[in-house]
Amino acid sequence: MENSCLFCRIVAGEIPATIVHRTETTVAFRDIDPKAPTHVLVIPVTHHADVVALAGDPAAAADVLAAAAKVAEIEGLTAGFRVIFNTGRDGGQEVFHVHAHVVGGAPLGPMLA
Ligand code: C5P
Repeated sequence: MENSCLFCRIVAGEIPATIVHRTETTVAFRDIDPKAPTHVLVIPVTHHADVVALAGDPAAAADVLAAAAKVAEIEGLTAGFRVIFNTGRDGGQEVFHVHAHVVGGAPLGPMLA
C-alpha cells in the first residue's frame, strides 16, 4: 500500500469505487469516466507502477488477466471486448498503479483510428 497512490486507496476502501469483482489479489471497479457501455479497471491489490513492473510478478499478472476475463463474463461481453494497459507518458498513462481497462458493450472500431 502506497498512501499517495489513488488506486491503493481504492483497494483499502479509503476512496469510493463501484466494485464489480474482487478476489484476494485483484479489484475490478467501474471507470469514473467511461469510454464505452462497459469500462472497468482491473488492478492488482499489490502496488506495481505499470505493466512492465507487473510482468516481473507473473502470479499477479496472471491474476489480473483472469480477473479481466471474469469481468468480461460478468458484463456479458460475448461479442468481444478490449483489454488495454496504457503505459508511460506516450501511452497516456495517468495513474501509476497498473490497471487493465476492460472496454466493450459496443463495436469499438479500429484501435488506432
Ligand atoms: O490508463 P490511464 O492511467 O490513463 O487511466 C486512468 C483511468 O482511471 C481513467 O480512465 C480515469 O477515468 C480512471 N479513474 C477512475 N477513478 C478515479 C480516478 C481515475 O476510474 N478515482
